[in-house]
Amino acid sequence: MVDHAKLRDPNAEYTMRDLSAETMGLTNRRGGVRDAEITDVQTTMVDGNYPWILVRVYTDAGVTGTGEAYWGGGDTAIIERMKPFLVGENPLDIDRLYEHLVQKMSGEGSISGKTISAISGIEIALHDVAGKLLEVPAYQLVGGKYRDEVRVYCDCHAGDESEPASNAAEAERVVSELGYDAIKFDLDVPSGHEKDRANRHLRGPEIDHKVEIVKQVCETVGDRADVAFDCHWSFTGGSARRLADALEEYDVWWLEDPVPPENHDVQEEITKSTTTPIAVGENVYRKHGNRRLIEQQAVDIIAPDLPRVGGMRETRKVADLADMYYIPVAMHNVSSPIGTMASAQVAAAIPNSLAVEYHSYQLGWWEDLIEEDNLIQAGRIEIPEKPGLGLTLDLDAVSEHTVAGETLFD
Ligand code: MG
Repeated sequence: MVDHAKLRDPNAEYTMRDLSAETMGLTNRRGGVRDAEITDVQTTMVDGNYPWILVRVYTDAGVTGTGEAYWGGGDTAIIERMKPFLVGENPLDIDRLYEHLVQKMSGEGSISGKTISAISGIEIALHDVAGKLLEVPAYQLVGGKYRDEVRVYCDCHAGDESEPASNAAEAERVVSELGYDAIKFDLDVPSGHEKDRANRHLRGPEIDHKVEIVKQVCETVGDRADVAFDCHWSFTGGSARRLADALEEYDVWWLEDPVPPENHDVQEEITKSTTTPIAVGENVYRKHGNRRLIEQQAVDIIAPDLPRVGGMRETRKVADLADMYYIPVAMHNVSSPIGTMASAQVAAAIPNSLAVEYHSYQLGWWEDLIEEDNLIQAGRIEIPEKPGLGLTLDLDAVSEHTVAGETLFD
């Protein structure tokens, strides 16, 4: 196995912009609790409804921070690769360390993708460290409170997702029994009328089937809940327009990702062609990836995924840019409690938060990963006043659910 930490710095032979404390001539000795240095970075992968990547940053100040990178393969090796750029640094310089890693990891592709999600996991852990060192909650580090509790919407899955009545029954259960007043269903489910799903074109009967799902869900819970629908980048521009037009009378919360994310012009045209609110954003990285979507008002709602887009400060920056265009933020989230709480802490600190997603209501042990109980109650996360993220990992539970072959933190 490759020891990524021992690979030489590929940029060493160049006089590339270097933001390390050593090169910048910065002191880590700042007085009191702020005299801290990073000593180690470790990861483990949890076998949840996604393979969650937990990241720990260790310091010489008796404080350890926990973060989460967006799920999937590759991040662990990338984080190992970044460790030499972090050890010896002061963990309080969150913004500079983020930029330092983006610069140093240019060879690994650090303007988007897995490298940015790996950096996001570290960035979240640094907020946990900083909050613990300074004895303030993480929301305080990203600007302070707009709200004590953050609204959570539940991503729902019916027993038979192609059956409109099954979706409506699950909507009723989630709203009346689990207490959510905001939910989302998938709308890219098979209708039985497809001739060819590869060509992205929606035939009339397929659109009618989707409208029937929306109609039945909205008629069942629409008086008590906001209801969004996700299309996972499935359709042609023309099909997306016809679908969005057909949904206008149902007052959906939003229609998410009706077309693939790569072609900005098509995205913009659809958003501007319909009064159905269009939400997009989980596939783009950093504030730069969100810039055109926001500046050209190609979205009605921006949906960054915090452990993927660049972390807590980057999400704050995206939210601030969106707020200049009066665009609200609905954070995409499929994380463990760690990434979810990082999202909630930022959602508490921005004016334009609509809600944070919760994607694990059918898992059964999501909350076992932390020592705290009742993280989500009646569709809300109350922001804790404890330092950092305000959560403590239950290492026994993490160990129980670790992906085979993964080692637990020291
Ligand atoms: Mg989505």
